Amino acid sequence: MKVGIIGGGQLAQMLAQAGQVTDMSSLAMDFAFVAPEKDACAAAYGKHFVYPYLDPKAKEALENWSDVVTYEFESIPVALVQELEKVKPVHPSSQALTLASDRLNEKTMFNQQGIETAKFATVDSLEDLQKAVAEVGLPAILKTRRDGYDGKGQVVLRDVSELAAAWDSLAPVACILESMVNFNREVSIVASRNVDGEIAYYPLAENYHREGILRLSLSLQNDPKQQEAQDIIRKVMEDVGYVGTMAVELFDLGDKFAANELSPRVHNSGHWSMDGTEASQFKNHLLAIANKPLGNTDIINPTAMVNLIGFIPEKELIDEIPGAVMYDYGKEPKPGRKVGHINIVANGDNYKDFIENIIKVLTIVGQEALIEELSNSSFYK
Ligand code: AMP
Repeated sequence: MKVGIIGGGQLAQMLAQAGQVTDMSSLAMDFAFVAPEKDACAAAYGKHFVYPYLDPKAKEALENWSDVVTYEFESIPVALVQELEKVKPVHPSSQALTLASDRLNEKTMFNQQGIETAKFATVDSLEDLQKAVAEVGLPAILKTRRDGYDGKGQVVLRDVSELAAAWDSLAPVACILESMVNFNREVSIVASRNVDGEIAYYPLAENYHREGILRLSLSLQNDPKQQEAQDIIRKVMEDVGYVGTMAVELFDLGDKFAANELSPRVHNSGHWSMDGTEASQFKNHLLAIANKPLGNTDIINPTAMVNLIGFIPEKELIDEIPGAVMYDYGKEPKPGRKVGHINIVANGDNYKDFIENIIKVLTIVGQEALIEELSNSSFYK
């Protein structure tokens, strides 16, 4: 099966790696990537078509080469997906992409499904922002509706004197103002749904961000809110007839969840599944788009994932930590850039060492500030 992927970053790379392992060999998957970057890190795992996404050759290449098309991120032109789905199976659909690539569509859909979100209002001018603050209150976050990721395109507002400068820093793009949610913890639910409608849910991950970038994810076994989170993602998936892996990021408010955002793709907070479950989020994405029965998503070993932002630590240091597996995406290290991750797996029942091992990794990557949070985490319970 020839899988064409729009995008050539680490998510495309890990999808291709998952499709090339022995237990997927019956599907004989080959991969091609359309990505304008000559040094796309997925390129070593298949054919690389170096075209801008809106170049007609991008569509032509995917159409001629692929049996099925998928994508690794939501900041791609919806028009490309719409054109391709006239001639090829494309999963997830352009409908799902349209929802997920605009914060206004996303939040409106959540509310229509009866799923709570932060209070929000649209902002297209400084005047709108003033009105939005009156509606939503302060503190709040001004976010661009499209193309924001890893904390980019966001400004926190605490005082009305900050409005003009905040608007100037993002204008003139369409924005949304969101109330600042006072959450107990952030979790995400990742699930995969195949063409026949079978859904496999991953155990919740508890997530820690710094500077708007995910730093640490902890897989949660038997979390009391697992079912509630599954109900949320199931509603969304079934409403749009979703096919593939999806993530929904949730703020836990104690008595209920508020949804933050939806990713129509494999997600950073699901990377722990590469070592913590039998079928990773990448494998199940491929099985879903190929309409095959989905693999087992139960936790085999509790796993923590630490992102590598801006640098790759010395391999020898990581090799000394029992249960630590490092993934180097082969990207040029730059400040703020995700260049890899480390999964730390609990081997056997030695829970104490497991926590110690996570702490060692956090120390090596300079995230000591998260160690205290770890000890307050629901991961311990
Ligand atoms: P986002 O790009 O929307 O996923 O935001 C990145 C991170 O910023 C989230 O994971 C939260 O930690 C924080 N954040 C975003 N929106 C809000 C909000 N409305 N209230 C509180 N924290 C938020």
